[in-house]
Amino acid sequence: MDFRLEATAPGSRARAARLRTSHNEVLTPTFMPVGTHAAVRAQRREDLLESGVQVLLANTYHLLLRPGLEIFEKFGGIHGFMNWPRSVLTDSGGFQIFSLPGSRTMREEGAEFRSYVDNQTVQLSPELSIAAQKSIGADIMMVLDQCVPSTVEHSVAKAAMELTHRWAQRCLDARGDSAQALFGIVQGASYADLRALSARVITDLPFDGFAIGGLAVGETAAEREDCTAIVTDCLPPDRPRYLMGVGTTRDLLEAVHRGVDMFDCILPTALAKQGVAFTSLGRRDLRRAAYRGMDAPIDPACACYTCKTYSIAYLWHLQRVHETQGWQLLGLHNIHFYQHLMRRMRAHILAGTWLEFYREQRELLDARDSYGPAVTHVTKAQRRKLALRRGRYEVVARGGVGHIRDTQSGETMHPVDDPQEEARSLYVAPARVVERLRGAEPAPLVIWDVGLGAAANAMATIAAAESLAPEQSTAIARPLSLVSFENDLDSLRLALGHVHLFPYLRHAAPHRLLTEHRWRSRSGAIEWRLLAGDFASLKFSAPPPDIIYFDPFSFKTDSGLWSLAAFRELAAICATSATELFTYTYSTSVRAAMLAAGFHVAKGAATGPKAETTIALSPRAAAAAHGHELLGEEWLVKWRRSDARMPFGATPDDLSWQDAISGHPQFSR
Ligand SMILES: [Zn+2]
Repeated sequence: MDFRLEATAPGSRARAARLRTSHNEVLTPTFMPVGTHAAVRAQRREDLLESGVQVLLANTYHLLLRPGLEIFEKFGGIHGFMNWPRSVLTDSGGFQIFSLPGSRTMREEGAEFRSYVDNQTVQLSPELSIAAQKSIGADIMMVLDQCVPSTVEHSVAKAAMELTHRWAQRCLDARGDSAQALFGIVQGASYADLRALSARVITDLPFDGFAIGGLAVGETAAEREDCTAIVTDCLPPDRPRYLMGVGTTRDLLEAVHRGVDMFDCILPTALAKQGVAFTSLGRRDLRRAAYRGMDAPIDPACACYTCKTYSIAYLWHLQRVHETQGWQLLGLHNIHFYQHLMRRMRAHILAGTWLEFYREQRELLDARDSYGPAVTHVTKAQRRKLALRRGRYEVVARGGVGHIRDTQSGETMHPVDDPQEEARSLYVAPARVVERLRGAEPAPLVIWDVGLGAAANAMATIAAAESLAPEQSTAIARPLSLVSFENDLDSLRLALGHVHLFPYLRHAAPHRLLTEHRWRSRSGAIEWRLLAGDFASLKFSAPPPDIIYFDPFSFKTDSGLWSLAAFRELAAICATSATELFTYTYSTSVRAAMLAAGFHVAKGAATGPKAETTIALSPRAAAAAHGHELLGEEWLVKWRRSDARMPFGATPDDLSWQDAISGHPQFSR
């Protein structure tokens, strides 16, 4: 593969280059949309070509299972099969195997996993991965690597890295004299010494390019940027560099600044489905009511078909009525925006104006959506309470106990006498947190706390873990990894300003979490991380959970989180782990959405004013039982008669949920 470096920006490592594959000349930096199943979700090839896509990424793992390699052999590879005239890069399948933790065994020889299509055992060795990528006919093939979460211990990361190195050599041998390019992958989790060592070992081998793997799997943006810089520093300047699976537009800018040439990520299409657009004005979230009547393109600076043809108001409406065309049009815009952004980066690198561009774009890209709802009328009584307000939240004190109320929807978090008691009885106790932390398993117990709010659930969990190790000097038997998701930190800031009303916050952890987004107990056994932003997208980057506290505002306020589509995504993430999800609602349409998405659903404990709550179980968790009482025939009969039988967010053009619920395995026992 021919690679020519054209320019490096002064004061930066940002570079512009050209590389020639067997199908086209690729100008870098470049972004490769993800075509998992030999198609970019809901996008036509003409639109991809028009937006300037130069390379598509396809997933070997998925294509191996469906349609199967014999189809590619028949059609002359993926280019003939999908009629794609430009380059294709295939990943090796390593990342998919890693992201399905329950279903695979790693050996020196290779990985063994169960097919999600027909449950057959499939082997994937370095030799088989390369053979598959040869059949698919990718212009650029990737070596098989072993990915581990970026937060694992040093020894685990080291072992995975060493295996990756041995597999790299086997992939090179298996490639033989094929004209298809082959890239090596640098691993080493978040450890600087391992990353540097891995870069040295991999660059000693005759690869056509080098990738940085194992990022965007749980580390912070700062860790990711540091890690990228350490690796690019060790890579030879005369070969392309590819940062795998990253990221947001801001991530791309930071990585180009650190010397990366190629990227792929599902975000432009995955977030389009959630109603999120990347624009020259920052992110725009079409779930916001402020866009309802806005007569302007979603990005005034964009020349794509969507922006030339439709107003925001129309796109808002399509998203509101769950019209498929809505996310197709947003996806088209997002891909166009990414491609245009990469071309602008390249132009500034070539023109010698990169640093100014970089500094200016850092402030703009991914900035939070600033189009909040219209200002509401403030009464005198409300004005008096202003000290108790912050952003959209206010503190309400009842009998010496503080509650956080959302002033826009009127909803109050934990509207009970003792929020800590509710957190224990609804989440911590039924999830058997204490019992599970006593177990001696080496892997951390991963808890997702969806909707951090004023941290009532998180602090009840930390209190439970600390009760097992009162001195904080002795470690609890099993490490605890608590991951809180929150898109508006004002509620926690507000509560921390009124600690006398929220006494459970008298602890170093919440302060540290706000400032550094991470807190660790002195022994290191308890780790609490904050993923600030939308759960809809962040859930893809967090380690798979054992337990989920699902405690966002109700579907009146946070509608996207409760929809059938959202539960389907969550079910896919939890497909191979034993995940138990606890939530406060017992709404029929939410339970229907969970069942239709593939979860088993059980009755949760009564709490405060609620006679019942809900537990959703992944198939593996359901098989393990744990004494949860699954909804039975009786519920199904009531559901059939209910006005709320349609899962929240389901659309009339897809009625597959009816059969999915009626025929759900939990009712056929
Ligand atoms: Zn556009």
